[in-house]
Amino acid sequence: MGGLIGASGLGGTSPASAAAPHHGPRPEDFHGHRQLLVPELLLLPEGPVRDRAVLVSGGTFRAVGPAEALIAAHRDLEPVRLDGHLLMPGFVDAHHHLTQSFGKAQSFGQPSEIFKTVWEPLEHALDEESAYVSAKLAALEALRGGFTTVADAGTRAPVDVAAIAKGTEEAGIRCVLSKIVSDGTGGPAHLERWDGHPLVHPSLAIAVPEDAPAGTLKRTAALCTEAGAVLQIHVNEHLASVERSLKSVGRRPVEYLHHIGALGPHTLGAHATLLTPTEMRLLADSGAAISYNPVASAWKGNGVAHATMLAALGVRFGMGTDGTRGDGFRLIDAGETAQRLAYGLGSGDSVCGAGRMWLDHATTHSADAVGLGKVTGEIAAGKAADYLVVDLDVPELTPSYDLRWELVRLANRDQIAAVVVAGRLRLWHGRPTDWDAQALIARAAKLGPQVVERAGLQRVEPVYES
Ligand SMILES: [Zn+2]
Repeated sequence: MGGLIGASGLGGTSPASAAAPHHGPRPEDFHGHRQLLVPELLLLPEGPVRDRAVLVSGGTFRAVGPAEALIAAHRDLEPVRLDGHLLMPGFVDAHHHLTQSFGKAQSFGQPSEIFKTVWEPLEHALDEESAYVSAKLAALEALRGGFTTVADAGTRAPVDVAAIAKGTEEAGIRCVLSKIVSDGTGGPAHLERWDGHPLVHPSLAIAVPEDAPAGTLKRTAALCTEAGAVLQIHVNEHLASVERSLKSVGRRPVEYLHHIGALGPHTLGAHATLLTPTEMRLLADSGAAISYNPVASAWKGNGVAHATMLAALGVRFGMGTDGTRGDGFRLIDAGETAQRLAYGLGSGDSVCGAGRMWLDHATTHSADAVGLGKVTGEIAAGKAADYLVVDLDVPELTPSYDLRWELVRLANRDQIAAVVVAGRLRLWHGRPTDWDAQALIARAAKLGPQVVERAGLQRVEPVYES
């Protein structure tokens, strides 16, 4: 894969080699309505494969097949050879809060259940402009981390969610955009407003079951089922919320949602870190999905979702950042590590899903969990061309024996050469190709602290005895 051996046959001395044309991928390779891409390796559902090509047209994968046959069938296209690179699906963040990006470092060192002390005041202090900048900043960070889709779990900011859509659209990321409907109004209008949008997919949210009466929860779930959208709701994340649920309705959150008829294939529950075996069974039987958020557990949780158990029981789950950090490779690494420390070590499970489980659950299964299983999440004909081009010629991945596990444990976002959403190049080596990221970062650096100041966050500042 390296350049030196391959170049020796060209007969050039050093100066001639230096003047030789550059054969690595270039941003212009990804421009235009149609491309025939021939990567060194293509990550398909069955694993990484060689000698395959993909035909992208109009933002969609039109064909995936043997490189030779596709090149022969499309003589009008110059094949784009991505030697030394992997073409893989973009990561799908199944749980994000795009309007919390100004305060993410404010959560460090805080006890659990900080939504009351940090997130609610922070979001309430946002206006249209700062909500837009926050969302666009989060979208940029997510794209840099290899996410091509993010599911926003619903903002509490007193703004029209169009401010969030503006940020994600301008950055170019696909977004499952929620509207909080705990008061029982606005759901149908929101679902209709974004119906058929190429990059914004509507969803409804109720932050936690205790926020809405049973009738509203049930009606919202029914609306989502009818519209093919997901109902996003935080469930069984913290001990305090599980206990509040037991005290107020006599059931744990997942049991309660099932009891009132709000748990089904269109429910996307976030976290689910504190599940009884009965609740795991309810999730499996109802077809509900959850978002496994390992970094959120480490930063502010009371537990780690038993993802390997959920997988064994057939519970659908994706993986989410919860707005912690927008880095896909670090998310899957954390997913494996958290699972290993919380459950694998205790049971002698040295495999813990291997690399494949975490890659699959952060891509195709995450797309399924957020209701976009037919749209994105894998390299397949008919799916959106949401993909990453990843440099494999790095010491970390050399030599390679099991690429999927290596991607989980060893890969880094600095290897992502290109981030493409709906066939359009959005980032080239971490930078947008058609808008000024530095201006946005400067704006956020100024605006963020002003919002935090206005919010009056109630941080716990422990006294450290030396
Ligand atoms: Zn959340």
